[in-house]
Amino acid sequence: MKGNLLVISGPSGSGKSSLMKEILQEISDAYFSISSTTRAIREGEKDGVNYHFISKEEFENDIDAGFFLEWAKVHDNYYGTSLKPILKELHEGKLVICDIDVQGHKIAREKFGSVITSVFITTPDQKSLKERLINRGTDSAEVIEKRLANAVSEMTRIREYDYLLINDEFKTTLSELFAIACASRKKMALMDLGEFMSAWANIE
Ligand code: 5GP
Repeated sequence: MKGNLLVISGPSGSGKSSLMKEILQEISDAYFSISSTTRAIREGEKDGVNYHFISKEEFENDIDAGFFLEWAKVHDNYYGTSLKPILKELHEGKLVICDIDVQGHKIAREKFGSVITSVFITTPDQKSLKERLINRGTDSAEVIEKRLANAVSEMTRIREYDYLLINDEFKTTLSELFAIACASRKKMALMDLGEFMSAWANIE
């Protein structure tokens, strides 16, 4: 494996999707892992771009077929990351970006170890998260309450991540995320040191 995985988690409304979109534009060989989900498609979303929107039955068949690197139930819906495309992109040396929740991060970390660099993105406080979710206008009051409750529980696990970004000012957070994404590709654990060291020692 020559590539690496950048796992991004954080509450819905933290701004992580917009941040990831910018990173994907800036890093030409970055690949966004499109998850599968059983949740309803939101206005402005596209099937096969934001997610693969599939039925509960299809999702459960895919679980049985061992299709997922990880899957989890979040806000009463299934979400899962397909293994095959990720392995292909890693073998091609890509920076693979996954947007997954805390449960998915734990499983992915167990399977991929140091190939993963993880970032938790959140708002400065709970109040601003609620405001962002309301202003986004995509979810009912009931769904917003569920997302807030889920955010509170996700926040208890931020110590499991390599980096924490508090998205107060978008441009600042973007440059911080960009720096992390670039540094994640230079981890010693990813390098083929044997080959490099013998080439380096060769004077002629
Ligand atoms: P949303 O419905 O706002 O798009 O996403 C809800 C939550 O599901 C977010 O916390 C997001 O990170 C998480 N999520 C999205 N895709 C996956 C996935 O493939 N696996 C897991 N475990 N969580 C995911």
